[in-house]
Formats: sequence, structure tokens, C-alpha cells
Amino acid sequence: MGYRCAICLTLSCEPVKLQCSHLFCKLCIERTFETSKERVCPMCRAEVTKDFVMKIDKEAREEAKQSNPDEYEEVLKNLNKLKLEEKKILKIKIKYGNRHKLAERPTNYHKNRSVKNKHIWTAFIEVIHPRVKDTDLIEKVKFELHETFKNPTRFVTKAPFKFTINGWGEFELPMTITWKKHLKMPPTTFYHDLCFDDGGKWHEYVFRIHEDLIKPKTSASKVKVKAVKPAPFK
Ligand SMILES: [Zn+2]
Ligand SMILES: [Zn+2]
Repeated sequence: MGYRCAICLTLSCEPVKLQCSHLFCKLCIERTFETSKERVCPMCRAEVTKDFVMKIDKEAREEAKQSNPDEYEEVLKNLNKLKLEEKKILKIKIKYGNRHKLAERPTNYHKNRSVKNKHIWTAFIEVIHPRVKDTDLIEKVKFELHETFKNPTRFVTKAPFKFTINGWGEFELPMTITWKKHLKMPPTTFYHDLCFDDGGKWHEYVFRIHEDLIKPKTSASKVKVKAVKPAPFK
């Protein structure tokens, strides 16, 4: 195995040696850390400290090359292709949750007049990206309110994808995004626990989406686009 990365099992052209001395491709280990909560070696689970710099181990790279020059060339070619593709993948943050304030004049709950709708809350889903707008990605959002609301299923079909309502209690609010058709992505549901403290609560989730998919080219020339499966969440 020598200079093979334990994650992708190929000869490593850009090996990084962790503090425990295990070797991985720079790209492989970076992706592992991106998607996992803990920074540990995938082989021995030794902790990788925050100050550890992902530097290519030149000696290990040279040894990998010497061990099998043909395979090394092949892997390097693929790696460069992959890096070009990676540049086109946008990491898009989706922010979802609720904002909250107390009502100055609480209204009556329609089913029981002794209960007051003391809370004004806004459920929302936003796209956080300098070049991508909500409407580039989202077709509509379905918010499923508690069954005690009138018309508990609400659709928002225009940006901003949010709505504001008065209520009296917290509950789990599923929010389902229907993506624009050209993204070829299945609907995504976030389950948000409504929060009436400190102005509300929200979370962020990162989707990896190919830029060609976001701005589909309409020219006559056929442009080949590739779907990128979003990472699973929760
Ligand atoms: Zn690897
Ligand atoms: Zn290790």
C-alpha cells in the first residue's frame, strides 16, 4: 500500500501527512473534514489539531512517483480534471428558521378565546451567496404549520420565501423546498423547531451545486451539464 491514500485507495499525488503519520490525499482529507464534525485521522482516529496545516509532503510525493511512475501520471491527470470541475461547484448556504417578536396587541386564538396569540413569528428560507439569488434555486417552499392553525399548509411561491403569523405556541415546522426544475434535485425538507426566545433561531446548511446547473445556457449549442447530488443532511 505504501503511498496509497486510505480514503480513495489510489496512489497519492498530493499526500498530506497527519500528525499521527498517516498519509491521505489533500483533497480526500479536506473533504472528510468538511463533512464531519470532528477532526480526526480516518485510520487511527488520532486528533488533528486546529493549527495543523494541510501541506503537501514533498518527500512522500516523490516516493509515490518513484514507486509507479505510470500510475502516478494517470492519477495526476485525473486529479487536475477533478480540480477544474471542483472550481465550478458552488458551495451555497441555505439559511432556514424563524424570527420572533412579542405582539404588542395579542389577538385571540380562533379556537379558544382565553388563549392569546402573543407571539409574532416569521418562518423563512434564504439563499446566502454573493452571486446566487433565492429565485435562481427555489421554485416554492411549503411550510407545514401545526394542525391548530387555519389552513396549516402554506405555500410561498415568490421570493422572499417567508411568511409571518401570530401564534401562541412553539412546534416543529417542516419546510420543504421545491427546487427549480433545471437543478434536477429532489425536494429538501428541513425540520425546524420554532423558537420564541432571543429573536428566534435559525440554522445553515451548505449545498454543493454545479454552476452550469444554476444558470442554464439557452444557446442552441448543446451544453452538457452534470447533476451534483447534494450531501445528505441531519
Ligand atoms: Zn485519496
Ligand atoms: Zn492516523
